[in-house]
Amino acid sequence: MKRLSKSWEQLAGRRFGALRPDSIRYKMLFFAVVVTLVPSLATAWVSYFQNKNALTEKITADLVSVSGAVSRELDLWLKSNLYNLRVFASSYEVTENIERAGRPGPNLSRLTDYLRSLRSRFPDEFDELLVVDPRGTPVATSAPHTTPLPLPPDWLQQIRSDNSAVGPPLPADSGETPVLVVAVPIVVPSGRFVGAFAARVKLHGVERIAKRSVPAPAGATLVTTHEGALLASSRTGMQGYLRDSLPPHTLSALVAKAGAALEYRGFDGQGAVGSYQEVPRLRWAVVSEVPTVRAYQQVIHLRNVTVGIVLGLLAVIGAIAYFLSMLIVRPLNRLAQAAGKVAAGDLAVELPVAGGGEVAFLTQVFNAMVVRLREKTEELERLSVTDSLTGLLNRRRLMEELTDEVKRSQRLEHTFAVLMVDVDHFKKYNDAFGHLAGDEVLVTVAKALREQTREVDFVARYGGEEFLVILPEGDLQEGTRVAERIRGAVRAAKLPGRHVTVSIGVAEYPAHGETPDAMIAAADSALYDAKYGGRDRVVAAAPRQPVP
Ligand code: GH3
Ligand code: MG
Ligand code: MG
Repeated sequence: MKRLSKSWEQLAGRRFGALRPDSIRYKMLFFAVVVTLVPSLATAWVSYFQNKNALTEKITADLVSVSGAVSRELDLWLKSNLYNLRVFASSYEVTENIERAGRPGPNLSRLTDYLRSLRSRFPDEFDELLVVDPRGTPVATSAPHTTPLPLPPDWLQQIRSDNSAVGPPLPADSGETPVLVVAVPIVVPSGRFVGAFAARVKLHGVERIAKRSVPAPAGATLVTTHEGALLASSRTGMQGYLRDSLPPHTLSALVAKAGAALEYRGFDGQGAVGSYQEVPRLRWAVVSEVPTVRAYQQVIHLRNVTVGIVLGLLAVIGAIAYFLSMLIVRPLNRLAQAAGKVAAGDLAVELPVAGGGEVAFLTQVFNAMVVRLREKTEELERLSVTDSLTGLLNRRRLMEELTDEVKRSQRLEHTFAVLMVDVDHFKKYNDAFGHLAGDEVLVTVAKALREQTREVDFVARYGGEEFLVILPEGDLQEGTRVAERIRGAVRAAKLPGRHVTVSIGVAEYPAHGETPDAMIAAADSALYDAKYGGRDRVVAAAPRQPVP
């Protein structure tokens, strides 16, 4: 029983202590987490995408406007350069001297001087100014030495259709910003095409334009060829002009989305959002870009704040759920452990009832149940050791007490007395007055037995109309005296029929027997003597015959 009790309690402790999937605490926590996460994540998701879309629209508009503006400025830049060249080409110095170009002499040196003076007036714009003949061979140059001019193969055609020719950008001789070869026709007053006025134009101006128009925040404007080779950048410290170029897939993606914005990996490998715009006459392109991290800083910040808020909510609601579940689980745990004790047979349990509510009610019901169980058990125990008719101890209980008394007296070297009481001619009484009247006699005799003995004495119904009395620490003399009192009391009792009498045999421990059975046999033998002697009398057991 004890072992079982412990295991029930341990089981309750383990069940309520652990956070198992089927426990109340786990379910409440789970519920709290779901209830927090679902709406907050849904709201966050919607607002994140709305914000991102709004931001994307704004960034796209900014980038497209910047790249468009730069593209137009570059077009103007080219036009102003061509305009300058046309002004230079129409000068008297040029037309006069080229007519006589075939002939050596002071003419060419005058032209060269003119070119050099122009060059010195525009040192930032032009790397070299030259005059070429219709075959493209330089006739005069501002440079110290004449070098072949890399005009585009279709330059004559371009001059015819556009009144100017624009070549591909080339690395500068001086090794700084690239240069662009452009040419305008030289037409003498007679209307004859005699050659072209050409220049290696520095791209400083292009770089300045790129630096002036930069998208916010922290963006950059790049000028590239149609093939993606870098020509100018608003970022300082970029040295890879004509060497660095946009990766082919980035370029093709940008071209495909020209006029809109796109996310890609830029020159430096960082994520960027950019917009691509062509500069048709130059066969160039403008890319305005902002780093993705900076572009979406607002939404990234919003996302972080949202995640923080959701985590905070989770912590608070989780803590509340945990606290609530503790409020429920703790009294339940107490109930379960108490129920475990009761299940194991321990009925001395009473739980404190705190507050109102279901759990308090349950605790009250539990306490009432235990009290009732305790009462019932006590009743059952009493019934199991008493005789139902007389309320005296039954025979089973008597034998236990007798065995205990023998042991006790043996240890303490005391005597005790045993009385065997039998109703005389009880059969006849039953026959004459009926069984119910007979029962009443038995109850009356039991009452007399109780009244004539002490609290410490044991009085039992031995069976039928026979009773047995144990007088602890009593001897034969005392036993006989008590027996006489009993006999007198029964005789004097008022009964439904006639008077009844009892015969009593008395024996003493250890003089007449050293075991429970021997004591009963000795008292019974004395009782037999009393019956034989005429009934209604007390007979003490005879001393034992010494064993030969
Ligand atoms: P004696 O004087 O020799 O003891 O004669 P007796 O008739 O008392 O003895 P016997 O052993 O012949 O009869 C006992 C009777 O007791 C028999 C039985 O009917 C009666 N008896 C036993 N138990 C009960 C009981 O619980 N109620 C009633 N009314 N009678 C009982
Ligand atoms: Mg009898
Ligand atoms: Mg009898």
